Amino acid sequence: MNIILLGPPGAGKGTQARRLVEERQMIQLSTGDMLREARSSGTEMGKKVAAVMDAGELVTDEIVIGLIEEKLEGERAGGFIFDGFPRTLPQADALGTLLAKHGATLDHVIEMRVDDEALVARITARSTCASCGEVYNDLTKPQPADGKCSNCGGTEFKRRADDNEESLKTRLLAYYKQTSPLIGYYYAKDMLTSVDGLGEIDAVAQDISAVMG
Ligand code: AMP
Repeated sequence: MNIILLGPPGAGKGTQARRLVEERQMIQLSTGDMLREARSSGTEMGKKVAAVMDAGELVTDEIVIGLIEEKLEGERAGGFIFDGFPRTLPQADALGTLLAKHGATLDHVIEMRVDDEALVARITARSTCASCGEVYNDLTKPQPADGKCSNCGGTEFKRRADDNEESLKTRLLAYYKQTSPLIGYYYAKDMLTSVDGLGEIDAVAQDISAVMG
């Protein structure tokens, strides 16, 4: 099964994707993670996109479509979770074409709805384990008191360079201008289901599972 998790920054797409990886042996394809990896390994592409990402703007369609194309050539396991991709209409068209090329289809597009105020609160409080990427939140899920990641025992935590109020404004604007048209796009294709992303992580996970069957 192949699904898209669609929603603004901070909606919880990454957190839910990680659960699906564990529970259903699916493969998470996060273009944000791929771009951050390219940055930290200092590739030419990574250097090129760093300033764009820090400003909260979108990287070119060509770059992210290329990243996804490479991954679709690889292993498929229980299917793909597209997390943070597609973010524009040309990306959505390209994904349809790429999947068709591999004889695959998109089964569900799950929109995670969260209001803007909650997004700002979530994002400015967010940190992750530097080793495994487990997500923490100063307000709702603080880093363990013993300083060790509850998932992998790692002791280093980091905050994303773009998780500040200024970049977030640009990221939200990019979401409303360039990504939210995908809601109508997939609705018209009869693929869209919306879930309330504001609840507890377990409750949201249950809603997503119900959609996937
Ligand atoms: P994310 O981790 O999904 O919040 O992505 C972090 C940043 O990476 C975004 O603010 C964009 O600058 C860039 N990015 C990630 N995915 C895409 C995409 N599909 N299209 C364009 N830019 C992207």
